[in-house]
Amino acid sequence: MNKSDYKDVFVFAEQRDGVVQPVALELLGKARDLAGELGEKVVAILAGEGVKQQAQVLIEYGADRVICADAPELKDYVTEQYAQAVFQIISHHKPNIVLFGATTIGRDLAPRLSARLRTGLTADCTKLEISEERELMMTRPAFGGNLMATIKCSDHRPQMSTVRPGVMQRAERQAGRQGEVMEFAPEFDREKFMVRLLETVKEEKGKCDITQARVLVSGGRGVGNKEGFGKLAALASVLGAEVSSSRAMVDAGVMGHDRQVGQTGKTVRPDLYFAVGISGAVQHLAGMEESEYIVAVNRDKFAPIFQAADLGIVGDFNKIVPMLTERLEKELENRRK
Ligand SMILES: Cc1cc2nc3c(=O)[nH]c(=O)nc-3n(C[C@H](O)[C@H](O)[C@H](O)COP(=O)(O)OP(=O)(O)OC[C@H]3O[C@@H](n4cnc5c(N)ncnc54)[C@H](O)[C@@H]3O)c2cc1C
Repeated sequence: MNKSDYKDVFVFAEQRDGVVQPVALELLGKARDLAGELGEKVVAILAGEGVKQQAQVLIEYGADRVICADAPELKDYVTEQYAQAVFQIISHHKPNIVLFGATTIGRDLAPRLSARLRTGLTADCTKLEISEERELMMTRPAFGGNLMATIKCSDHRPQMSTVRPGVMQRAERQAGRQGEVMEFAPEFDREKFMVRLLETVKEEKGKCDITQARVLVSGGRGVGNKEGFGKLAALASVLGAEVSSSRAMVDAGVMGHDRQVGQTGKTVRPDLYFAVGISGAVQHLAGMEESEYIVAVNRDKFAPIFQAADLGIVGDFNKIVPMLTERLEKELENRRK
């Protein structure tokens, strides 16, 4: 087949418990840009059981068509079942581009599909563009984040990439937008189902998704320990924010990995990001530099974080953060009066 026989920009619309995940909506936003440049359509792949009603959400966020594989085998995510279903959809429809969220599910599914489809996969892309030759240019950090590599997949189709949650921006929802919903019945080869899901253990409640927070108070090695993070939590509570951290504090066992911002953690794009006692290593910046407004607190006036910050405060966080918390508390109290 010719490359020109492959058409449309597909998005694997990840759902959990029947709810489309934010990353799928973000990918639809990017897919719209790419499809617009190519003059092609945006198609969402929706797989699960009893998920068809989610198709309209995908259409309102930019899908022109939703291919829905609704089957009991797809109730919960299991690699082989999903790989078989999505492989059949891709093989049948021959998309030009397929995008996946770089979530635990996307990172499991996409490489398996790329092997079965005999095509390439670029993981954790931070930028996706169409070249003059109409090829997908997939950019991602390389060599520990010290340079950005742009990768293309010239000889094989589809062109596939994963993108972390929070990297792309979802488009405005267009309520009532019209689109097509197609049903797809996968033919499962049950003999290949080697893994059986016995039980799903949910993460403890109260854990937050820092990629969805509008304000983040993030602490690094300069904050040092749980006591230091207590000061950050007090500031976060006044602001209605979540607490996140650099990798240094995750490696030290002070914070959980779900709170880590950066290249090997999460990519965040809040309205307001406090970087407290964080030096501003490239691997950290890669996860937060797209934040709308960055406030850095650091006692070293030469710390690289100040290059990325909109507002820099030089000093000891032990003094600055409680002062800031008190001032903000008073300010908010006055506004409430
Ligand atoms: C492949 C790879 C992937 C990585 N991925 C990530 C990632 O996802 N996320 C990430 O964060 N890092 C990541 N790293 C690690 C990264 O290179 C840095 O080591 C890390 O970000 C440093 O964390 P930090 O800024 O908290 O600590 P440091 O670099 O030690 O900085 C501490 C800062 O605190 C300041 N400070 C100290 N005391 C105070 C005080 N009392 N008040 C105010 N300021 C104070 C210091 O001046 C200093 O600037 C990765 C590294 C590699 C090689």
